[in-house]
Amino acid sequence: MSNDRVRCVDCHEPIPSDARVCPHCEAVQPSPLVDVAVVVAGVFAFAFGLLLAMLTIGTSRLLGFLLLVVGFGLGVGGYTRHVDRQAGRRAR
Ligand SMILES: [Zn+2]
Repeated sequence: MSNDRVRCVDCHEPIPSDARVCPHCEAVQPSPLVDVAVVVAGVFAFAFGLLLAMLTIGTSRLLGFLLLVVGFGLGVGGYTRHVDRQAGRRAR
């Protein structure tokens, strides 16, 4: 990943990749890592749930379907958050 060219979410000035707060407008920078972690966890839950739902029966199959739904929600939720942030960035 290229972390050397990070821009402020607010004023679009280049900032250090490890800066939590923009040195120009003092806007707090959101961590994209959180979104990535949520989406990855969602994908894993989805894949695991799919396996359980397909390969097992009974209670674990129900659990698999539950994981499917939760994983799907996490993945879509994380992606939506990411898209929302991009849209908000463009609207400013
Ligand atoms: Zn800024």
